[in-house]
Amino acid sequence: MKTKATDTQQRDKLFTAVNTAVTYLLQSEVGQFENSLWRGMGVLAAAVNADRVRLWRNYRINKKLYCTQLYEWSEGAEPSQGKKITVEVSYDDDLPGWQEKLTKNECINSIVSKMPADKQKRFLAQGILSLLIVPVFLHNEFWGFVGFNDCHRERLFTADEESILRSASLLITNALMRNEMTQELTAALDKASAANQAKSQFLSSMSHEIRTPLNAIVGMTTIGKSASSIEKKDYAFEKIGIASTHLLGVINDVLDMSKIEANKFELSTVEFDFEMMIKKVVSVIAFRVNEKQQLFRMKLDPNIPQRLVGDDQRLAQVITNLLSNAVKFTPEGGTISLYARFMCDENDACKIEVKVTDTGIGISKEQQKRLFASFEQAENDTNRKYGGTGLGLAISRRIVELMDGKIWIESELGAGATFIFTVKLERASGESSEAESRPVFIEKTEPVRLLAVDDEQETLEFFKVFAQRTDLVCDTTADSREALKLLTGRTKYDLCFIDLRMPVMDGVALTRAITEALEVKPVIIIISAYDWNPIEQDARAAGVNGFLPKPLFVSDVVDCINKYLGVNKNAEGAAHKQAEEFPGRCILLAEDMEINREIVLTLLESARIEIDCAANGEEAVNLLKDAPQRYDMILMDVNMPVMDGLEATRLIRALDSKKAREIPIVAMTADVFKEDVKLCIEAGMNDHICKPIDFNEMLAKLKKYLK
Ligand code: ADP
Repeated sequence: MKTKATDTQQRDKLFTAVNTAVTYLLQSEVGQFENSLWRGMGVLAAAVNADRVRLWRNYRINKKLYCTQLYEWSEGAEPSQGKKITVEVSYDDDLPGWQEKLTKNECINSIVSKMPADKQKRFLAQGILSLLIVPVFLHNEFWGFVGFNDCHRERLFTADEESILRSASLLITNALMRNEMTQELTAALDKASAANQAKSQFLSSMSHEIRTPLNAIVGMTTIGKSASSIEKKDYAFEKIGIASTHLLGVINDVLDMSKIEANKFELSTVEFDFEMMIKKVVSVIAFRVNEKQQLFRMKLDPNIPQRLVGDDQRLAQVITNLLSNAVKFTPEGGTISLYARFMCDENDACKIEVKVTDTGIGISKEQQKRLFASFEQAENDTNRKYGGTGLGLAISRRIVELMDGKIWIESELGAGATFIFTVKLERASGESSEAESRPVFIEKTEPVRLLAVDDEQETLEFFKVFAQRTDLVCDTTADSREALKLLTGRTKYDLCFIDLRMPVMDGVALTRAITEALEVKPVIIIISAYDWNPIEQDARAAGVNGFLPKPLFVSDVVDCINKYLGVNKNAEGAAHKQAEEFPGRCILLAEDMEINREIVLTLLESARIEIDCAANGEEAVNLLKDAPQRYDMILMDVNMPVMDGLEATRLIRALDSKKAREIPIVAMTADVFKEDVKLCIEAGMNDHICKPIDFNEMLAKLKKYLK
């Protein structure tokens, strides 16, 4: 009777202990789990008179099973001491026979002194006299075990103890897993909410970025409409133009970013002239550099092949972004430099490095780490102070990576910044690995002699390299008095490049002195980064023949020499003029928005093209059906009521006439995703023009399809 009563009491005690332990674990708050685990294990240990409870987890390396201790409760220790990672313990090597037993879901219930001698050592060293090892299975897999140690008595744990501790062990393990999952979920939630916050921040700066130019456009339109003088109207138009271009830039960035996020950002490869690409970029940036009175330096390595194959527009976008940041984050009077150098040939491609340096506010090391991520700006108040969306560098990085390159930054807060990137581009066919010189067509038998006068060493260096590569002779000097001495000496110069702003005697004064001193003076070209218009009249009166803007490009210098000393001086200009007119040609324009029709009609006014308009696809099909021979080309909007451009194109191509099958159809659409363009081509169109319409792009398409 007595034994039974004791048994029942002991069982009750065990159940109560398990119940208490589970309550601790289930009620544990986030961040309090270890404490609850500790208390739970403690209660269980007390119920079975154990001195230690340990939780072990299995893992595999190369199919071999190991275990490691995750947690330990021991009498008198602190919860913070509970978390212990032991060295790896191999079942095969350190615990022979255990794996077989435990995987069969059997417990190990042993008195240490009765174990084989080699095993005894391991446990006696830890003061253990008896132990109960309870396997734990999760999702039908042997997950690990819980060990209960008695360091005071030699005994076997009772069947009741074994059975109840099995459930308790499973509960402990489950609670542990639940805690791990909660932690992972909390981390994921934190990450998501940080991303969410970044996007809200982005939306707010984006709204600001869009509103600013829109306000300017709306305001300037009102001013322009009510302005009485033509100058005031022009002023308003100019401001509207600048604000619109800026707005378009913001929208393009957002579009690019969404393409990148949707993994649909691709490059389109064409053959292009590297120097021409840089020239376009510089012409975009020059205005802002001048406005902030900054000094712009540039050096292009002559070893970079002239013609390359790649996405020149995307490359230009990266350089423009870096340069506009440099200008934006550099105070007035600072210096911005652009260097490009040929690095090496690598697997049929040449590796080029581009470096943009400024003397601006710089970026701390901490902030540099985040800069190339989307929506990131160095400081939180950057947007308020400088504007911008924080997308430019993320887009730039993607472009550079697509070109098999890298982009990085070297900077310190307050000490300016240098952005460097590399790209790999193919040489165009026919480009040898030897750098070639650009042609100079001069009909003189004696060598042509040039003189370059500039107080900036970099410019003189440019002319020296230029002369070597073109087989011309070029003397250089940084001193205008020295220049005058050279010119009035025995050597006869054909052409002088003279810097405008120099100490002692500026370019115009030097020209005046030359004109006075020489009966037959050389051709004189003023070179300068400053605006030519205000001084043109004075300069021409002093004897200046022409002007070349800085930074200097080899192609400009070659053109200039050809223009003043070469054959066919003005032929190219005349051909150019003629190329932009298409008399006798007729276009069918399908576009539902009246304002867009008006824009096309006005843009093409000077091209002398006849244009018939249709307000939807159906009208366009009917017009073409009625007079197929009348039209030379169709400009087709895509989204139109009644019948869209895709459907209209399909109907036109299906008409029973050779003309309808062959007439060039060019889509005009604001959808600039590659798939949209693909849809147009699949419907039977030949090409695509982006809206808002860029005059030069339109002209290029007209030339392609009408000439
Ligand atoms: P945006 O200029 O439109 O904000 P970017 O991605 O081009 O976006 O640049 C991200 C941020 O990097 C900028 O907001 C600025 O904080 C920092 N940054 C970029 N270029 C420079 C630079 N040359 N000098 C200092 N800070 C820069």
